[in-house]
Amino acid sequence: MGQTLTCEALLLDTVDLHDGDRIVTFLTCEYGKKRGVARGAKRKYSRFSGQLQPLAKVNIGWFEKEGRELVRISSVDLLRPGGRLQEDLEGILLTAYLADHMIEFAQENENSEYLYRLLDSTLEALLAGVDPNLAARYFEAWVLRLSGIFPPPRECPLCGRVFGHESGRESGSVRAAVLPPNGDALLCAECAGEGGILPRRTLSLAPSTVDFLRLIGRQNLADLARESPPGAQTLAQVERLCGELRRPFLGRELKSYAMMKQTLGRLGKG
Ligand SMILES: [Zn+2]
Repeated sequence: MGQTLTCEALLLDTVDLHDGDRIVTFLTCEYGKKRGVARGAKRKYSRFSGQLQPLAKVNIGWFEKEGRELVRISSVDLLRPGGRLQEDLEGILLTAYLADHMIEFAQENENSEYLYRLLDSTLEALLAGVDPNLAARYFEAWVLRLSGIFPPPRECPLCGRVFGHESGRESGSVRAAVLPPNGDALLCAECAGEGGILPRRTLSLAPSTVDFLRLIGRQNLADLARESPPGAQTLAQVERLCGELRRPFLGRELKSYAMMKQTLGRLGKG
């Protein structure tokens, strides 16, 4: 038994096969991540021609059979092109990084509404001109939050001391948070350095970074970019934190991240 389905999707990746077909990976709200064959998509007069752009938002139809890994794509109608996001090298690297997250973190055949909305709104914000660095940090932190591996940036779980500028209101001292090596919770410096000294490789987050992490939880990207854009130091600390959390979870680094850092580093933009 098979069934035909249609819904809105974001295209994550396309791979050309030698016979003119294409394998397309796409993300939907209802059915999560899917992989399908677009027959003849590489041919000149294909009905798919021009529709299979990475990161495009489309209406997609497919036929699937139970137990088969690949679905068969029957129609693709472009709703929002992805091309403008990939006009330069930085755009190409960034969008590959965003798509890579979904390929790794979204599940097949499982409701993925939050991940879908996150990617959709991030692409929308990028198209509207939001700072790509801010968009990347917001996005990666939220993917980790939705996957349940982002430590609450509120208070030290060992002693209850509050982080960030909210702590200043109670005690007069504004508290930083630290992520100990291989840690999965944010601690206060006192609890992290049991002997009074922080272990090497401890990642320290300034109070303003902790404030920003909290803000991420309650503000959308476009509002945040407009009302309270963070500084470069904050973004750098968030990037490091996300990497420290993501790598042990995946057991490795995302290829697209390594590629982005390497390429931009070579160009002196990393
Ligand atoms: Zn503590």
